[in-house]
Amino acid sequence: MTFKIKDGIYHIPLELPWSSPGFVNVYLIDDTDGFIMIDCGVNGDHYFELLSKKFREINIKFNEIKLLIGTHMHSDHIGLSEKIREEGIPFALYKNSIDYLDKYNDWTIRFKELKNYAITQGAPKSFVNNISEIQTPIYAGKVSRPDVLLEEGRIKNLNRDIETLFTPGHDITEISLHDTASKIIFSGDHILPKITPFIPTESKDSDMLAKYTESLDKVEKIKHDIIAPGHGDLISEPHNRIKQMKLHHKRRSEKILTILEEKSFTGWEMVNNVFPRKLDDMNLRLAFQETMAHLKYLENSGKVKQEEIHNISHWSKTKEV
Ligand SMILES: [Zn+2]
Repeated sequence: MTFKIKDGIYHIPLELPWSSPGFVNVYLIDDTDGFIMIDCGVNGDHYFELLSKKFREINIKFNEIKLLIGTHMHSDHIGLSEKIREEGIPFALYKNSIDYLDKYNDWTIRFKELKNYAITQGAPKSFVNNISEIQTPIYAGKVSRPDVLLEEGRIKNLNRDIETLFTPGHDITEISLHDTASKIIFSGDHILPKITPFIPTESKDSDMLAKYTESLDKVEKIKHDIIAPGHGDLISEPHNRIKQMKLHHKRRSEKILTILEEKSFTGWEMVNNVFPRKLDDMNLRLAFQETMAHLKYLENSGKVKQEEIHNISHWSKTKEV
């Protein structure tokens, strides 16, 4: 199904090759002399055909698309971008994307630092080896330097007033797009209706949760009526949703502090304390990255500290003053 959100704005859920989330949202915005497209789904002829079919249903041709904007560098949002560029459509990402092209295209580069980080947190060999074995999925396609590098503020050469908001956290290149006329914010995966997006830590110095929290504050301050997310239904009470998402992370941080109340733990032990259920390889990696994001955030807020014992980080609560 394709939905018309408002005059000239289409919401096109497009199938993904996995079940959760099963769809990614593509949006089309009428800019009078062509459409602006937000995100495009995964790479592959099958997915290009699905998208083409959706376009035919609403009577829009590829040569009517004047710009494709990727909200962030994840395969479910920009995997198909290279194929769409072959149709002569320029592609835009946030300006820092050029620093992450290699990591997007080659997951051995992407996960190299994470592997070393896992070792310093006392992760078992099996976990570290699993990270080494991750291969770039075919669904990611290949992404080369974008034609347009977006900066914060109004996007140039458009008739509509669409503003780029840099909202890193879930991904270091993530943006949200604010269409001022409709008061809709297209949030990518920064704000989602049912799940809170995964906040990754990829190396020892990154504090992605701090970035994410700042990005939530940034969107919260903007007057808007609707959030059009990268997955799921439109969010009609966006400010409530932002509050819920903040609360989710606050509770998880509190849980971590409670676990550290009595004794210190290695980073890896913390993962198992925070996520006690048995997880498959991928979810275990996500759990590791998310736990580390919280520990780093708490460390930078002065609430926990880490101490190296035999090259392994042990985390403990700082004494309250
Ligand atoms: Zn996504």
